[in-house]
Amino acid sequence: MNRIGIDMGGTKIDCVALSPDGQVVFEKRVPTPRGYEAVVATIAELVKLAGEGSVGIGAPGSESPKTGLWRNSNVQDTQGKPFRRDLEKAIGRPVRMENDANCVALSEALDGAGVGKPIVAFFTVGTALGGGLVVNGKLVHGINAEAGEFGHTPLPWPNESEWPLIQCFCGKKGCAEKYVSGTGLQQDHAKVTGEQKSGKEIVAAARAGNPKAMASLDRLADRFARICANIQTIIDPDVIVVGGGLSELPELVEQLPPRISRYSFSGTAQVPVLRAAFGEKSGVRGAARLWD
Ligand SMILES: [Zn+2]
Repeated sequence: MNRIGIDMGGTKIDCVALSPDGQVVFEKRVPTPRGYEAVVATIAELVKLAGEGSVGIGAPGSESPKTGLWRNSNVQDTQGKPFRRDLEKAIGRPVRMENDANCVALSEALDGAGVGKPIVAFFTVGTALGGGLVVNGKLVHGINAEAGEFGHTPLPWPNESEWPLIQCFCGKKGCAEKYVSGTGLQQDHAKVTGEQKSGKEIVAAARAGNPKAMASLDRLADRFARICANIQTIIDPDVIVVGGGLSELPELVEQLPPRISRYSFSGTAQVPVLRAAFGEKSGVRGAARLWD
């Protein structure tokens, strides 16, 4: 049987169908429509085009194990809706749904950068900071389905320049994603230098040798290393896989292991860090494999 995967984002919806031996036999991308009913209908239409097969869907947010409603989504149309139940009705098949970062984590653990490793901790650094944890090829959800939400762990060991801690949308102060994300980089650079630059512009300036931009990336790497060292102390993964925009900065990812090592409890821990293998196609591949 084929495995159909859907990756829904704020701007586009991707669909693939994988044959039993993992070959892509169908592929389509459409813009995300406005309105909840339209989103559900569009996904159902894509599945119909993809044909017979199991259906796995990745989307921002997650299903509350208590209420069955979709929560913590930055795609407002889906917020608080019985998203999976409505999709099952529209598609006429059982559906497995998962947080989009978890889908990427699963894909990277099963046949990407983390292949063959028992414990894979995954970060996706984009506008926000997503995370996922895969152990022995299975996503770890936890009793509240909140395991692996690394972006909302606190920034560890803040130094004096990092006070007062930054307010997060989740209601707390000092969450990791306020520091390690495109938005975090932009805000930190503006605070220290007074320059309004996008994350991409800061990266480009650093590559051109601009000392202020290089210092901003250095602070980012130091904070990311602290966050990774905190995760290392709790679960000591075999590998940390980094995806999203930051994975396009190989030099920054390469700096992480020695920095994490310095912040580890022993001061000498070895934590391999690898860039994600599949780029933006990772999410939809992981969604297709939710029935594996
Ligand atoms: Zn938060």
